[in-house]
Amino acid sequence: MTVTDLVSYDDALATYDPVMGLEVHVELGTKTKMFCGCSTELKQDANSQTCPTCLGLPGALPVVNEIGVESAIKIGLALHCEIAEWCRFARKNYFYPDMPKNFQTSQYDEPIAYNGYLDVQLEDGEVFRVEIERAHMEEDTGKSTHVGGATGRIHGASHSLLDYNRAGIPLIEIVTKPIEGAGERAPEVAKAYVAELRELIKALGVSEARMEQGQMRCDVNLSLRPKGAEKFGTRSETKNVNSLRSVERAARFEIQRHAAVLSSGGTIVQETRHFHEEDGSTTAGRIKDNAEDYRYFPEPDLVPVAPAREWVEKLRAELPELPRVRRNRLREEWGVTEHDMQSILNAGAVDPIVQTIDAGAPADQARKWWMGELARRANEGGVDLAALPITPAQVARVCALVAEGSLNDKLARQTIEGVLAGEGSPDEVVAARGLAVVSDEGALGTAVDEAIAANAAIADKIRAGKIAAAGALVGAVMKATRGQADAARVRELILERLGAEG
Ligand code: ADP
Ligand code: MG
Ligand code: ZN
Repeated sequence: MTVTDLVSYDDALATYDPVMGLEVHVELGTKTKMFCGCSTELKQDANSQTCPTCLGLPGALPVVNEIGVESAIKIGLALHCEIAEWCRFARKNYFYPDMPKNFQTSQYDEPIAYNGYLDVQLEDGEVFRVEIERAHMEEDTGKSTHVGGATGRIHGASHSLLDYNRAGIPLIEIVTKPIEGAGERAPEVAKAYVAELRELIKALGVSEARMEQGQMRCDVNLSLRPKGAEKFGTRSETKNVNSLRSVERAARFEIQRHAAVLSSGGTIVQETRHFHEEDGSTTAGRIKDNAEDYRYFPEPDLVPVAPAREWVEKLRAELPELPRVRRNRLREEWGVTEHDMQSILNAGAVDPIVQTIDAGAPADQARKWWMGELARRANEGGVDLAALPITPAQVARVCALVAEGSLNDKLARQTIEGVLAGEGSPDEVVAARGLAVVSDEGALGTAVDEAIAANAAIADKIRAGKIAAAGALVGAVMKATRGQADAARVRELILERLGAEG
């Protein structure tokens, strides 16, 4: 990796105005591939999920996946795009070993969706509108594994293995119009856009959009122009950035790098770049081909896609509430700050909390458990909240047991611990571990009397009016009841017995 000179971020922004373009690829969650019946499940042995069509064998004929088209329309509609009355697939011709047909079936000048926008909310609450150029359908390539080298890259490898199981999996590519006017917030806008798009895709149910698994990846195009200039500068295109944080860092790095090149009198070459997670830098990839080099032409083996207007309108009517709108609604309903809502979102706790409330828990309680004890557990285990072995209904049941006085906070935590350990439902854990609060006044009274008898000196102090000493007796009773008493009630009983007023 070569060391690159950078200009400080502030200096870069003092002289230049960044323009960005974001291209996001989303792998759809369809059961089968885009143009054949092969399964999209990637757990199987290499090349086990292939057929003559996705291997590009001569004479094989592709057929369009209807769910793939439906998903593309849903995404287009959610992005406020126009949906084409009629469009075609196109062949994008180039050679690469992971693409057995020597062309990628894609869409070129006739995308299924075009001219839309997505409003994204920045951290301070400001809303920034990102305009969408188009969303089109295409297919994924296979996967190469380079063997024998130290780095896993093709350089230095002795040979490469090819797995075509991923070849033909449906992708939607969503391309923004040039994003202007973000200024110093360009990296933040890029991150917020990808985050919002990911939420939207998940809400539509068309993909799980897990960036860490490559189900969603972003190419960050960036150029600088002198402040006040109209004409765009030359862009670089940082490919396959696969986390929200990396999208922000890649944009930031490129702003600093472009500024260094431009301010020293150099020129930016239009090229692809690789992003490096370790230090947030980018390095040169290949000089960017022009579209003409791909010799795009309409795919003759597939019929045009002409979605019926009734179908489009039906899908429009079924769109879910947009994530940003839903978030703002929930924030108001729950009475939390923008900042708290952001934490809830980052923790992946929105849906668990909503479901816990739906199962009958008060909002503040649902929030408390998911953002407290359960978030801590998920963190420790390195898993998502949603992957914890406890259901929202079970959390709601724990809340109900606390509300009716059967559990205090400490016992509730132990109950949750038992559920997570696989000991059964909250009620089963409470019964098996004997966790219920001792609310039987007779039993409590006995425990109080025993504590007083065993701590005569302290009891005398309390009788003499030193009420602060009561804490020690409360502690003794709580210990004797293994924490299962209501501490406030214990204190009342002690003061009553000793004739002191609290
Ligand atoms: P390609 O296929 O070469 O990647 P696309 O049109 O698919 O081209 O995507 C280019 C992306 O970069 C789009 O989001 C576009 O809005 C954006 N873009 C185009 N020109 C510039 C530029 N000079 N600076 C920054 N972004 C640009
Ligand atoms: Mg591109
Ligand atoms: Zn196939």
